[in-house]
Amino acid sequence: MSEHKHPRPRFISFVLCRCPRCGKDKIFPNSILNVSKFAETKYACENCKLNYEPEPGFFFGAMYWSYAIIVAIIVTMSVAMNMLGLFDYAIVSIPVAIVVFLPVIFRYSRMLMLYVVYPMMYKEQYTGKQ
Ligand SMILES: [Zn+2]
Repeated sequence: MSEHKHPRPRFISFVLCRCPRCGKDKIFPNSILNVSKFAETKYACENCKLNYEPEPGFFFGAMYWSYAIIVAIIVTMSVAMNMLGLFDYAIVSIPVAIVVFLPVIFRYSRMLMLYVVYPMMYKEQYTGKQ
C-alpha cells in the first residue's frame, strides 16, 4: 500500500472527496453547487486507476448510509429545536434542511461506501493484488 500513499491524512481526503486509495483524484468532477450535475461520479481514479464501482449497483448501498445520515439530522435538529423552544417549526424546517443538504448527503453517502465498504468487501480490487 506504500505506492498509494495519501498526500494528506485520510480523513481530510474523505472530506475533500478524493480517491480512497491514493487520495489524489477528485471523485466528483462537478461542483457540489451544480444542481443538475452534483451527482455525477467518475468511473475510475485518473491517478491510480481504482475502479470506483467494483460491481454494478455498488452505490445502491449508499442508500443505507444516507438513511442513517438523514435520521441523524432529524434527531439532532429535533433535540436542538426543542431545547431552543422552536419545536413547532420542526415539521417544516427539518424537511427543508434535508432537501437543501441533499447534495452533501448524497456525496458523503457515496464517500462512506468508498472509504468504509470498498476496502472490506473488495479487498483484491482495492489493494490492486489479485
Ligand atoms: Zn486513486
